[in-house]
Amino acid sequence: MQICRTVAELRAARARFGALGFAPTMGYLHEGHLGLARRAKAECGASLVSIFVNPTQFSAGEDLERYPRDETRDLALLAEEKTDLVFLPHVSDIYPEGFSSTVDPGPLAHVLEGASRPGHFVGVATVVAKLLNMAQPTKAYFGQKDAQQCLVIRRVARDLDLPVEIVIQPTARDGDGLALSSRNAYLSKAERAAAPVLFRALQAVQARVVEGERDADRLRQMMQAMIMAEPLAELDYVSLADAETLSELARLDRPALASVAVRFGATRLIDNLVLQPSAA
Ligand code: AMP
Repeated sequence: MQICRTVAELRAARARFGALGFAPTMGYLHEGHLGLARRAKAECGASLVSIFVNPTQFSAGEDLERYPRDETRDLALLAEEKTDLVFLPHVSDIYPEGFSSTVDPGPLAHVLEGASRPGHFVGVATVVAKLLNMAQPTKAYFGQKDAQQCLVIRRVARDLDLPVEIVIQPTARDGDGLALSSRNAYLSKAERAAAPVLFRALQAVQARVVEGERDADRLRQMMQAMIMAEPLAELDYVSLADAETLSELARLDRPALASVAVRFGATRLIDNLVLQPSAA
């Protein structure tokens, strides 16, 4: 496993490989990240994982400074996955003095996470476009856990003709349904016990859709009521939106993204499920 700390090192190391699978991360790795690394290696023969806590995707007052980091542990986990290349850049290497160009993904970036976290997806799209240009991977791997991020990145790759295949990996969960996230490390014991309410609310909606419910407001109210019944949970949003455009639906007459964002104290968690009403 080769560790690259500068863009020049990454470019030189990447040139030694043909096909390359790339999984960008912010580190503090868990089984969800490792699933991306494993699949990149299995499908492309060689894998690259980047670890970079990207400051431009955090809004003022968010958790940039306290975002969990453990480089030694992350590198040990990636070595176990036989990862070929790890990219660990400094902020000044990604955003050198005078940096001023950004990628704006447009309307997809303004709803849901983009509405709650202004500027977030410009930060995400810009860093991902830069990382893809630096690494020139054959395929790049992203998690369905961040469903809107997946849509934004597909949009950007298409709009800017980035020569890469975007692959989406299903959400890895703990036994009780909680989606794995580096931010779960912030949760107190009581908050961790309450957090599976996100997945339970999404599953309840899915079950109602299977039973035939198609009224989106009734389904949104149901998710909202389940989350608000949990005393430690503070609801940010519930959404039932078109799975491609993310515009809110009145009726579930096409594939839909059910998504939720909830705060437990200072920790903000998100989760989602794709619903297929026609198959239900
Ligand atoms: P992050 O380090 O949170 O920026 O995540 C890096 C990548 O891992 C993103 O593509 C995420 O969507 C993905 N990811 C994070 N959590 C999970 C999970 N529980 N299951 C699958 N992929 C995940």
